[in-house]
Amino acid sequence: MSLTWLDMPGLRNGQDAAKGSGYDDPPPRMGFFTDTSVCIGCKACEVACKEWNQIPEDGLNWTGMSYDNTEGLGADSWRHVAFIEQTKPMAGQVTGSEQPQTGAGEPGQAEGVRWLMASDVCKHCTEAACLDVCPTGSLFRTEFGTVVVQEDICNGCGYCVSACPYGVIDQRPDDGRMWKCTLCYDRLSVGQEPACAKACPTDSIQFGPLDELRAKADERVQQLHRDGVMDARLYGNDPDDGVGGDGAFFLLLDEPEVYGLPPDPVVTTRDLPRMWRRAAAATGALAAAVAVAFVTGGAR
Ligand code: SF4
Ligand code: SF4
Repeated sequence: MSLTWLDMPGLRNGQDAAKGSGYDDPPPRMGFFTDTSVCIGCKACEVACKEWNQIPEDGLNWTGMSYDNTEGLGADSWRHVAFIEQTKPMAGQVTGSEQPQTGAGEPGQAEGVRWLMASDVCKHCTEAACLDVCPTGSLFRTEFGTVVVQEDICNGCGYCVSACPYGVIDQRPDDGRMWKCTLCYDRLSVGQEPACAKACPTDSIQFGPLDELRAKADERVQQLHRDGVMDARLYGNDPDDGVGGDGAFFLLLDEPEVYGLPPDPVVTTRDLPRMWRRAAAATGALAAAVAVAFVTGGAR
């Protein structure tokens, strides 16, 4: 059977993302661990990302969604800080807005309002559907295992937009091309950390080798559980999940849906090779049937 571009090496990436893409001796896979439990919502990450990458302004709007004024990730928002207001404080948290009561400040006892703040970004998936479907090679896997779009050869077809299971990559209306976080590929190439991680004052955004980040994240969750924050959980860290694990993963304090994240993302191109094989088989059978009909019809 002939190969399609979906079967080419590097497009179906395994766990070792860079090696799967043809790099013989890549550096360690690099990524982000975003610990939302220490995010203070300052948006320094959004600003640093815009400044370094020269991203245009994306609307300074009152959205009615707390202090969120960009609403989500987009062509001109490569980091997005969500503000989720809940009447469900963290264990031991004294918010200043709760009603006088006994037990405030004790794990699980306080009532009041809390903000969940979380800086979202492209997940730099191990199995990246955006890469699978890009017909021009504009999207590519770097030696660091990250996923980057080269806007200069993007033809604006938009296949990647519908393929991304997280709704990350987006088209800029004025030029038709696709834009998203590059995990500051230019900075990584010269040994610098990404601008957002550099600017984050609380280390909510941590950058480093993915293996080390996963170990740190496991420790952090255990620490939070010991401190009574039983809702703390990791998202996107599991190499056995539907996208083979994310290069950018998160510590969350509630269900992923609360943050607008899909609870069980699956690489959207997972079934494409099987579908193509079946389509090819059906086409072959149809062609054979037409040939037989032509031959037998001609013999009468
Ligand atoms: S989150 Fe979407 S845009 Fe980012 S690597 Fe995964 S599929 Fe591609
Ligand atoms: S810079 Fe850090 S603390 Fe500030 S909003 Fe971004 S992730 Fe949160």
